[in-house]
Amino acid sequence: MSRTALRICPLCEATCGLVLTVDDGRVTGARGDRDDVFSKGFVCPKGAAFGAVDSDPDRLRTPLVRVDGELREATWEEAFDAVAAGIRTVAERYGPDSVGVVLGNPNVHTVAGALYPPVLLAGLGTRSLFTASTVDQMPKHVSSGLLFGDANAIPVPDLDRTDHLLLIGANPLESNGSLCTAPDFPGRLRALKARGGTLTVVDPRRTRTARLADRHVAVRPGTDALLLAAMAHVLFDEGLADPGDLAPHLDGLDELPAALADFTPEAVAGACDVDAAVVRTLARELAAAPTAAVYGRIGSCTVPHGTLASWLVDVLNVLTGNLDRPGGALFPQAATDRTPRPAGPGRGFALGRWHSRVRRHPEAKGELPISALAEEIDTPTDEGEPIHAVIVVAANPVLSAPDGERLDKALGSLDFMVSVDPYLNETSRHAHVVLPPPPPAQSPHHDFAFNTLAVRNQVRYTRPAVPLEPGRMAETEILARLVLAATGMHGADPAGVDALVIDRTLGKAVKEPHSPVHGRDPKTLADLLTGENGPERRLDMMLRLGPYGDGFGADPDGLTLQKLLAHPHGIDLGPLRPRLPQPLRTRSGKVELLPEPIAADLPRLRAALDERPGGLVLVGRRHLRSNNSWLHNVPVLTGGSNRCTLHLHPEDAERLGVRDGEPVRVKGAGGEVTAPAEVTDTVRRGVVSLPHGWGHDRPGTRTRHAAADPGANVNQLLDGGLLDPLSGNAVLNGIPVEVAPLTAAVTETFEALT
Ligand code: SF4
Repeated sequence: MSRTALRICPLCEATCGLVLTVDDGRVTGARGDRDDVFSKGFVCPKGAAFGAVDSDPDRLRTPLVRVDGELREATWEEAFDAVAAGIRTVAERYGPDSVGVVLGNPNVHTVAGALYPPVLLAGLGTRSLFTASTVDQMPKHVSSGLLFGDANAIPVPDLDRTDHLLLIGANPLESNGSLCTAPDFPGRLRALKARGGTLTVVDPRRTRTARLADRHVAVRPGTDALLLAAMAHVLFDEGLADPGDLAPHLDGLDELPAALADFTPEAVAGACDVDAAVVRTLARELAAAPTAAVYGRIGSCTVPHGTLASWLVDVLNVLTGNLDRPGGALFPQAATDRTPRPAGPGRGFALGRWHSRVRRHPEAKGELPISALAEEIDTPTDEGEPIHAVIVVAANPVLSAPDGERLDKALGSLDFMVSVDPYLNETSRHAHVVLPPPPPAQSPHHDFAFNTLAVRNQVRYTRPAVPLEPGRMAETEILARLVLAATGMHGADPAGVDALVIDRTLGKAVKEPHSPVHGRDPKTLADLLTGENGPERRLDMMLRLGPYGDGFGADPDGLTLQKLLAHPHGIDLGPLRPRLPQPLRTRSGKVELLPEPIAADLPRLRAALDERPGGLVLVGRRHLRSNNSWLHNVPVLTGGSNRCTLHLHPEDAERLGVRDGEPVRVKGAGGEVTAPAEVTDTVRRGVVSLPHGWGHDRPGTRTRHAAADPGANVNQLLDGGLLDPLSGNAVLNGIPVEVAPLTAAVTETFEALT
């Protein structure tokens, strides 16, 4: 029997509403939900392929447990018994930090990934946390932490109202947006142009987004911070800096001109390979626009000065008076945000509260750089125990972290490893236990993380579109049981994890004077919660305590889970609104424009004024039908432009003797890979580009389609040594590489051997 069901798409950050066609319990089609309050019917090729993603025959159906060196199918009881024995043995013998936790980015695309890892980390007491953030957006978290006192307070461009948008290192026509949740990002950019606005794109590649722009500046990779600093310099130099109504909320404004004095357009022009006149024009256009927003993304984060570039993005928004105003860059207010507290000084943001054991990398936002994971496992020191056991939740760092070869070996040497993963992939193949979550159609969905980054305030929730198949366990229950098994409570009722969180959260809320439940009895409040299970009761609690919530009866018109369920296409909560100073958590209670760690890092940026790469440098790229390493096993999403080829400019190709379509060898500090050349003038001279997430050619995996066309693992070109020091983020863009036709490379190797 055929029916339809609603499901929010989890396949990228845009969070589109989908209408799934379900035949006999199987998803056979997906289209955009025209009634969705946010996405209004938009769907991209990934979302349209939801059924194929959901029914991939290579998805694991049962847990796997390693016996006599081999992974064998097992019962859930056997699997959790093995997890409890493996993790507890290591934790009790070597201490909590000897258990590493690795969280991949799919965690922010699931209800379970949002609700349980914090409980797991608190229960384990480990400081060995590594996530995908340090190969992605950690610089933005750090700059937000330093500027606003809250690493998660990230202003997003007001796409639908701005007059002028400057994108740097972002390609939303392929990514559909990141750290800026906006279904139909391409349509919103076209609407900006249609209403007379202007779009400027700064990117070393002439991407699809750049082709849409009024102005494309092909900056040299890795020099974004220099370009942005020079723009800020121009604003001061030409008397264009005018924060307007923001002025009372700012601290450090007077010190900024001196801090940026050396970064004149003329001084940065050589390093950026951008004319000084262009830099001045960019700054003047930004200042002259009625409203404007600067938005930086992965290309500006995964570079040696990622935190400085992220900081300067918001400095420019401040200096042009565009932070926290309609049409500028605003702080979203999600329905599950904590109860807004009164404005005032906060605890501030600290970096380096602890350090990694081997190379003493400072923690940022409670995390150590994922570039350091391999050495934290394979390198003994006198400073404490290496990591002996790892809990991996939805992560494939063998492909997504630098130097996958070394990490591959390191994971293989662990005393114990458990992976929560639907696939036996390059990372989970090392696990002693694999716990497979059900396909997405069998899970509920709410975007806890992405609603805090959305260009419009709204709230949506979809229950599982199809029931759990026999033998499956809900992802929320898998993670709740993992918490129990790993923290010495194996065998306890998994519902107790949710009850504990509810108990603690309400217990804290009733003590907060600004809370709508101040002074009430937490047990009585808990009894008021609705929902079919623990995760739903937790969602109900968060909604009711949140900024639009009913406050457990204090505002009868406010949000509850029941109200949300009565609106299956979501509830629109209106456009983004100015919120300062309420979101600020700095010690001063102001936007701290020149925090000490930033000021201390500026000499490093000054030194970069004289740097010029001698040869080719590598950048990444994104495809519309891909998302990291997730979707390469889905035939309908591979092929065409979604292929792992090396883009290089025709003049570079000619100089190197490389012909289009022929294989080339690419060599970096961490190793070398082979990929077919794609000669194209969409990259600037001196720059080559490979997409990431490929390299599905290791033995012992069970992703048959991906293995048939594995591609090259670009991260193998990195040795893990290049980091943005403030955030610990890996440098993935602008890294020096050598490229040679494979035939020449083979000859060279042969000659070296003979
Ligand atoms: S844009 Fe993202 S959320 Fe929307 S359908 Fe495509 S993959 Fe899904």
